[in-house]
Amino acid sequence: MSTLVIEGLRATVAGREILRGVDLTVHSGEVHAVMGPNGAGKSTLSHVLMGRPGYTVTGGQVLLDGVDLLPLPTWKRAQAGLFLGMQYPIEVPGVSLRDVLAEAFTASGRDATQVPALVGAEAARVGFDERFLLRSMNADLSGGERKRNETVQLGVLGPRFAVLDEIDSGLDVDALRAVSRRIEAATTESGLGVLAITHYTRLLKELHPDRVHVLSKGRIVTSAGPELADELESTGYAGWAEDMEEPAGGATAAGRPPDPFADPFA
Ligand code: ADP
Ligand code: MG
Repeated sequence: MSTLVIEGLRATVAGREILRGVDLTVHSGEVHAVMGPNGAGKSTLSHVLMGRPGYTVTGGQVLLDGVDLLPLPTWKRAQAGLFLGMQYPIEVPGVSLRDVLAEAFTASGRDATQVPALVGAEAARVGFDERFLLRSMNADLSGGERKRNETVQLGVLGPRFAVLDEIDSGLDVDALRAVSRRIEAATTESGLGVLAITHYTRLLKELHPDRVHVLSKGRIVTSAGPELADELESTGYAGWAEDMEEPAGGATAAGRPPDPFADPFA
């Protein structure tokens, strides 16, 4: 049994405080949904957890089985068992999915000769076209194909905890079901713990969250059982949805530097 504890996590981007004290605990095998209005800080939370450059952590800790991840570089967080499915998976010209996963296996002392078979099996499970496995990662892939690619990586790597940032966006109904089933199977087969960021209950109907949290203005403002997701679907984020206030002289959405992870097709 593993535990991921996020405690009082605070972070700034471009001088502006986005995360203002996030507290969340996820145990092996649990699925926690994080919902919340646009701009609440959901993607920021996922990036800060994985250690993306450009964010300054100003408080709190993130403990995976008692080890603080925040001082570690991203690759060590991955080796510790944390996985991020990105909202906008990037293209990596010249590097195939298979190369990436083989390198990850080698770097963590696992047998990389197993990778092609594992990748093939995982691709079949989520309907990810075999043609894409040897091509540059994410090159010319649709949004939905990129999400399936992320899910193949998750299946092959077998992390202890996965943060999935809108894994459902761009997926059609069949793909959504296949991806959700794969993730749910991991929660029982290998005890994967999941932090699923989403706007839609359609994902949660398949993924069956144990807890649903609302993140607003950089904090978890309410947490409840799966019924909260249904409630939010009818009420929206009334009361939580106001934009985060801009500090005087701070960075604005319009004035911020370009995001290298932004979806060029959005
Ligand atoms: P969500 O995923 O909940 O929609 P984000 O975490 O993407 O929200 O963004 C939270 C806030 O942080 C938004 O106001 C956004 O404009 C701001 N933000 C995100 N990334 C950057 C960045 N690189 N530079 C400046 N501001 C950013
Ligand atoms: Mg986001």
